[in-house]
Amino acid sequence: MNLAVVHSRARVGVRAPEVRVEVHLAGGLPAMSIVGLPEAAVREAKDRVRAAIQCAQLEFPARRITINLAPADLPKDGGRFDLAIALGILAASGQLPTEALEDWEFLGELALTGEIRAVDGVLAAALAAGDCGRRLLVAPANGAEAALASQVEVRTARTLLEVCAALEARKELPIVRPTLQQVTAGPDLADVRGQMLARRALEIAAAGGHHLLLVGPPGSGKTLLASRLAGILPEPGDSEALETASIASASRQGLDLTRWRQRPFRAPHHTASAVALVGGGADPRPGEISLAHHGVLFLDELPEWSRHALEVLREPLESGSVSIARAARQCEFPARFQLVAAMNPCPCGWAGDPSGRCLCNDEQIRRYRARISGPLLERIDLHVEVPRLPPMQLRTDGPSGEPSAAVRVRVLAARARQQARSAATNARLDQSQTNAFCRLTARDSALLERAVDALQLSARSLHRILRVARTIADLAGSEVIDTPHLTEAIGYRKLERGRERAAA
Ligand SMILES: [Zn+2]
Repeated sequence: MNLAVVHSRARVGVRAPEVRVEVHLAGGLPAMSIVGLPEAAVREAKDRVRAAIQCAQLEFPARRITINLAPADLPKDGGRFDLAIALGILAASGQLPTEALEDWEFLGELALTGEIRAVDGVLAAALAAGDCGRRLLVAPANGAEAALASQVEVRTARTLLEVCAALEARKELPIVRPTLQQVTAGPDLADVRGQMLARRALEIAAAGGHHLLLVGPPGSGKTLLASRLAGILPEPGDSEALETASIASASRQGLDLTRWRQRPFRAPHHTASAVALVGGGADPRPGEISLAHHGVLFLDELPEWSRHALEVLREPLESGSVSIARAARQCEFPARFQLVAAMNPCPCGWAGDPSGRCLCNDEQIRRYRARISGPLLERIDLHVEVPRLPPMQLRTDGPSGEPSAAVRVRVLAARARQQARSAATNARLDQSQTNAFCRLTARDSALLERAVDALQLSARSLHRILRVARTIADLAGSEVIDTPHLTEAIGYRKLERGRERAAA
């Protein structure tokens, strides 16, 4: 037998396409060539695989070895195929039974000593291996992450020798059972004192999936509020949790297993680059907006963000995903996040504060707010002011706020109504659904038109007001949108008043 085929997987963005490692031995001068890998990666893989085989006291065949990684057009970052290549060489040279390899997939970098090292993006690979009905072998450090994919048998091995022993049925490798992580509760709304208006807006945002903008002076608790949104959202389902975890697994930071089944809360700094925010790079990695998939993206100091960074947010805010084109390659990352943005009311931060310490004039305030483009502001459904509280209300021995668990009960009830009606959150109703499900009485329609005129709002904003009104009615358990629901919804768009809108 001079030929062996071993299954492995590449990492492309958050996907894990299959790679066939084909090894062929022929007569002639001893040499090893690898087809289908970039030059530098080939050199390194050759050295590691040869050393690992020799260190394991196995025979490195003195023949002409050709290794083909198919398909050829996949990006293949170096180390993850080492183990598959080494096993292919051993099988092709008769040192391993080739048929033992058939129902396995292998993923791991080899150290020169033959030790198997962890690689990234293992969760996506495990999910895909399960779909193909194969077992997966990874390094011990990758075991727990791979086992999150419950449809696949995951085993781990520490060294190349251990894998050989298992394939020859001389040794049993440990199966990794999914460890049920205790879901740790995030920060609680009970810590937020006062701020009834902002708490109300947060609850509406959670109930309908709406984006939210908090406007208030420094220290008013905007970050405190934003970080509590994830905790009042419904628990993610299995597929949502796996999607979120797969993205983290493909990121540079990797997956943090202690955050499994928690909705993500991402709060990048305003100096973050557009690539850090939306993803990219030569080997495209997910950015903050994808790491916030099914969770919350918090952008503090919104006017301080570069215009470019905010502009690239617009596409994912609409579509729930972002596509990144790099040379010949296109990557699509999911990015269905809920945006919570925060800003000061004026450059100094104190406009409207009873202390009167703000000295900004109207023009300065107008220019400051105009840094956020109209089209972006338009896509944020709820604008709410978060005033600084008098010290009396902030006393830690005073009454605490309503806890997250109680708020979440109302959120879940409102979401159940939406599911039954349209199988989606209100924020994601399209225009025809909005017309069908957000009907107003003739009197309320006239009221809304007057408000749209007075606030100089666009048609897009008008539809967004209707969807927020629908959510407010759902929270009230009402099948019809009543006047108070509508007026409250209109009240959340005040920041748009009098803005001249740039073309979308
Ligand atoms: Zn000011």
